[in-house]
Amino acid sequence: MAQLSDDCFAFGGPLLSVDEAVGIIAAKVTAVQETEAVSLVAADGRILARDVAAPLPLPPFTNSAVDGYAVHAGDLPREKEKAFPVKGRVQAGAAAQAAKPGEAVRIFTGAPMPEGTDTVFMQEDVSLDAKGHVVLPAGLKAGANVRPAGEDIPLGHVALKAGQRLRPQDIALAAAFGLTELDVVRRIRVAVFSTGDELASPGTPRAAAQLFDSNRFMLIAMLRRLGCEVSDLGILRDERGPLATALKRVAGEHDLLLTTGGVSTGEEDHVKAGVESVGRLVLWRMAIKPGRPVAMGIIGGTPFIGLPGNPVASFVTFVHVVRPIVLALSGAAAALIVAMPVRSAFAYKKKGGRREYVRVTLRKAADGALEAVKFPREGAGLLSSLVDTDGLVELPESVTTVEPGQTVGFLGYANLM
Ligand code: AMP
Ligand code: MG
Repeated sequence: MAQLSDDCFAFGGPLLSVDEAVGIIAAKVTAVQETEAVSLVAADGRILARDVAAPLPLPPFTNSAVDGYAVHAGDLPREKEKAFPVKGRVQAGAAAQAAKPGEAVRIFTGAPMPEGTDTVFMQEDVSLDAKGHVVLPAGLKAGANVRPAGEDIPLGHVALKAGQRLRPQDIALAAAFGLTELDVVRRIRVAVFSTGDELASPGTPRAAAQLFDSNRFMLIAMLRRLGCEVSDLGILRDERGPLATALKRVAGEHDLLLTTGGVSTGEEDHVKAGVESVGRLVLWRMAIKPGRPVAMGIIGGTPFIGLPGNPVASFVTFVHVVRPIVLALSGAAAALIVAMPVRSAFAYKKKGGRREYVRVTLRKAADGALEAVKFPREGAGLLSSLVDTDGLVELPESVTTVEPGQTVGFLGYANLM
């Protein structure tokens, strides 16, 4: 399990900026060390544990980039076209025989270059004469239409780096090297609880004053997208004792404990007291909107995060606190979230000194530019505001007003998990 000191997330200031929060996390969380070998088909999305150096050059042998005729550069027609006898034929996958000066070899894309040749004429650029000789035009450069061995990746080059999250193209590269498995960091184990007497689990009866628990399913899905192994531990009632016992019980088997709800400062918010009775806890008052206080703690050496209960606040704080911690635990290289510049179609006023996230839909304006259209309502409890939008416009601490037409930074939901 990740070993963290008790004061790991302590923070004294009144308000914590997003950058400060990410900085504290990066400094205090150490990556799990266990790795496992996974087959290529199971490697997508996993964090690579070790650098991969090319065990062979790519392409492994010099080959033709086109269908055509291979000749030696010394024979290239200079001023006017020239006819060559066609001696031999080499297709992809076949071994090439050597060619003599003055001869052309019929060749196909991906076939190895015959010894004695180094340039290929595209079949579209040549003709055959009455004697069956191939007539090659003047003007082609020596080495044209040939892919030299190692031009893509030279032997020994570090082509994949430890800490990167494997994508389909990275897996393709490992396969091109002839590898069958990759060493990855083991999955981060996360326990997820919802808290609140007002919650009913889907599939169980719902009392009149209850609503179905939705956050837990959102958080589990987001964690899975980050590659976590998730334990769904259901709903904890608003009661300090059982809540503390439940968290303490599973702390040892997980790398991270995550709850949603019950962390404001109301008297019915029992998460704070519950965690304090079995571990340490501080409330991070983050300078973001939407986003209420986030509880950060340690139970038996395992980090604990208590997210707010309002779905949108839960979503946004997940992105800024849970995601960086999960990535740090899994030894992932710092994954920058880069906002895409789009044109605002809305006017907005905000307080300076805090970061705000506006739920928006993208549309193409008449002039072709991408425009961000603000969701008409702002409540942090509106699930529809996440469902009916494409992403978040991020307004930095320094901004206080946005006018229509201004450039703003857009974060698509898919980039946030
Ligand atoms: P809390 O943070 O516990 O004060 O909850 C804030 C609001 O979010 C309340 O209206 C809760 O009913 C709602 N809420 C809390 N937990 C969940 C959940 N798991 N799913 C949906 N809504 C929730
Ligand atoms: Mg509650």
